[in-house]
Amino acid sequence: MHIYDDDVFRMACAQFEVIAEYLNIDKNHRDRLMYPKRSIAVTLPVHMDDGSTRTFQGYRVQHHLTLGPTKGGTRFAPTLSMGETAALAMWMSWKCALANLPYGGAKGGVAVDPSKLSRTELEALSRRYMQEMIPFVGPHTDIMGPDMGTNEQIMAWFMDTYSVYQGYAVSEIVTGKPVTIGGTEGRREATGRGVVYLIERAMDMLKMDPEKSTAIIQGFGNVGSVAALSLALKSGVKVIGISDHTTALYNPKGIDVKAAEQHMLKKGHLRAFCEDDRVDPNELLILPCDILVPAAVDRVITGKNAAQLKCRILAEGANGPTSPDADLILEQRWDEIFMIPDILCNAGGVIVSYFEWVQGLQSFRWTEMEVTDKLFRILEHSFSQVIRRAKEHKISHRTAAMAIGVERVLRAKSTRGLFP
Ligand code: NAD
Repeated sequence: MHIYDDDVFRMACAQFEVIAEYLNIDKNHRDRLMYPKRSIAVTLPVHMDDGSTRTFQGYRVQHHLTLGPTKGGTRFAPTLSMGETAALAMWMSWKCALANLPYGGAKGGVAVDPSKLSRTELEALSRRYMQEMIPFVGPHTDIMGPDMGTNEQIMAWFMDTYSVYQGYAVSEIVTGKPVTIGGTEGRREATGRGVVYLIERAMDMLKMDPEKSTAIIQGFGNVGSVAALSLALKSGVKVIGISDHTTALYNPKGIDVKAAEQHMLKKGHLRAFCEDDRVDPNELLILPCDILVPAAVDRVITGKNAAQLKCRILAEGANGPTSPDADLILEQRWDEIFMIPDILCNAGGVIVSYFEWVQGLQSFRWTEMEVTDKLFRILEHSFSQVIRRAKEHKISHRTAAMAIGVERVLRAKSTRGLFP
């Protein structure tokens, strides 16, 4: 389907085909499972500070509505396309199903570099995007959340715009919003925390001592910075490499991640932090470490560098960081590299978003301890299911995770039947 013509969509389809073959899914069901239910493209005119009007392209893809409303983040990134959005929505479907959440997957966003907009322009763009989406989203239809390039403030603008239109506060239309307007405790940290919970489970299984282990983390945004801080300050792992879109740093003696966070909060990026530790960003992923966490963009582990990875655990904080040709290489290296696939590894975000939505619908508040405890229980269940399935069927962790997700969606579709 040419509207999805994009490398990332092709990658998501290739991954799906592997699972469809493994599960022996009838050809009649494959397209129905794979292609999005609905895709919306919108043009967003915005008054710029210099008096001009600029138009931006926005998207929202709702992958399937079989198990409940769709749920998914909103990405503000310059290269965003309909195809990439559709791929991300598809991954969300398998992720939600693996965690047994009553959602289909969605994703949306705007092709824009948010760092190039003033606050006024960013607010105008965010509000216009939500305004255009009002006919297509709702607390029981499609619930938005944050992703790369968006944050709590943007979620607050989304919620406000939707609520002004309805005439009353609808906090459950978005997740990842500030606690002051109905956000949940623990959402901001949820994805990174979940990543580290699963890394600790893997270390435990592999009998690795955290105090003697090292980590490299690519990306120092929401997921990467929380994972880095939690690994360093809670698990006792030495963080020896970090990076963002401006720089990559490596120091075998360890990096002061707390100071890196302070620098980030002040400047908005890592540029000019510990300049003596700078390395080539492409090299960072193949430097020796025990734990490698790609937590930035997709397709950074490819057929070219997969054979060179020198980690024991590969924890996919980002969505789609490993290309299918890299997967083939990593499958050969299954006894050297323990992979925690994205739809399991970064599921903490959508799980706590689900808690936020449930709290919003019930006008009820949970404590951070309740949120974190419930999060870890779900991750524990998913983790053991994936490990068990992979062992029993001698398949990769990614195949096991995706197969559990795809199977649940297929079962629900078959049970509901096809209308008319
Ligand atoms: P973010 O915008 O908060 O941070 C992204 C980080 O990646 C920034 O530090 C940025 O500088 C860095 N980056 C961008 N391009 C880079 C590159 N080429 N090399 C190195 N670093 C680069 O985004 P986020 O919310 O942390 O999301 C990161 C990844 O995690 C994305 O793939 C996203 O889809 C996924 N994810 C996020 C959540 C969530 O709750 N935020 C949940 C699940 C999955």
